[in-house]
Amino acid sequence: MLDARRIREDFPVLRREVNGRPLVYLDNAATSQKPRCVIDALVEYYEGYNSNVHRGVHALSVEATARYEEARAKVTAFIGAPSHEQLIFVRNTTEAINLVARTWAPANVHEGDEILLTEMEHHSNLVPWQKVAQDTGAHLTFIPLAEDHTLDLSRLETVLTSRTRLVALTHVSNVLGTINPVKEIARAAHQLGATVLVDAAQSVPHMPVDVQDLDCDFLAFSGHKMCAPTGIGVLYVKRPVLDEMGPFLHGGEMVKEVWYDHATWNDLPLRFEAGTPNIADSIALGAAVDYLQGLGMENVRQHEVQLTGYTLNALKELEDVTLFGPKDLNVRGGVVSFYAHGVHPHDLGTALDKLGIAIRAGHHCAMPLMRKLNVPATARASFYIYNTEEEVDLLVDGLKQSLRFFSHVTRRA
Ligand code: PLP
Repeated sequence: MLDARRIREDFPVLRREVNGRPLVYLDNAATSQKPRCVIDALVEYYEGYNSNVHRGVHALSVEATARYEEARAKVTAFIGAPSHEQLIFVRNTTEAINLVARTWAPANVHEGDEILLTEMEHHSNLVPWQKVAQDTGAHLTFIPLAEDHTLDLSRLETVLTSRTRLVALTHVSNVLGTINPVKEIARAAHQLGATVLVDAAQSVPHMPVDVQDLDCDFLAFSGHKMCAPTGIGVLYVKRPVLDEMGPFLHGGEMVKEVWYDHATWNDLPLRFEAGTPNIADSIALGAAVDYLQGLGMENVRQHEVQLTGYTLNALKELEDVTLFGPKDLNVRGGVVSFYAHGVHPHDLGTALDKLGIAIRAGHHCAMPLMRKLNVPATARASFYIYNTEEEVDLLVDGLKQSLRFFSHVTRRA
């Protein structure tokens, strides 16, 4: 098990107060906090060997290149990818998915084809496919949500057809916390010749993920949700899908030879990394991977299972509070969304902030799912390695206090 109290010491920001109270940070699905070792990796780069990569012969450039590629190797191993050539550094999950939509999709998705998504996708894994559908004349189809907020797989045979070119789905829902059976869906999709993209923004930071075990063709995630800085993300691509993909952005670094009228493309993965990459943040992502591996991803998962169970138990006692997501902790990540009837989640979020408690309130970039759940928005607490049961107690007390306040205000109005 993780020792969250000890882990907290590694995160400088957790020492601060907000509105005169110790910070209780429960917005980890939006972005995680950063440990000292990640911040140090950034400072060491800028103070010690700041330089461009893959283009210099001087010592600093050689060192920066080595550290940049070392980070790629760490991330490759972290997700069980067979080769560093299949690991493309991008800005975030959104850019990774757009890369696939702009490069793979035009060559593989045609009029009348289907792109199968789920009803719980983040806008990042919905809007790019709406654009592909508009451009190509393909149709979007959806695996529906079941009553218990898992995917209704009894409908898979109906929605997954011989016309399905791509199945693009989230591994873990950022609203419901549902862990989707990606491996099973990928197997069914491959049997029909479809390609599979996994949005792993909420899974790679929180549990062991092995791309070869999942057997997905694409896997996308963001560094900032897993202790690394903002501005660095990853796209993994399986072979031979990768070999058939044309470049995304064009310019320096992604070329091998250039003439005035044409150019040839660089080797993998640099073919997909045009221009100067995000060197510092990639190296810091490597440091974040080291840190998480030191804790053990299975321990990270178990810690969140425990906190989520503890939270659900406490919240189910509250009157007029609807909880979303599966009850079964085996298929649920560390995300707890809820709706307190009669109180807008934004008001709740503001009231909790006054107590130093940071939760997320809003549509969580999943507007169609909000409509499906029949709520304007939800409040969401989401956990990570440094959260404790004491913090959950503070959340629950704060909620009770806020709900009492709002019911009083409503009665007087
Ligand atoms: N997919 C899911 C499931 C997410 O939760 C998020 C971010 O919250 C994203 C995609 C987009 O991530 P980013 O904003 O880092 O691109």
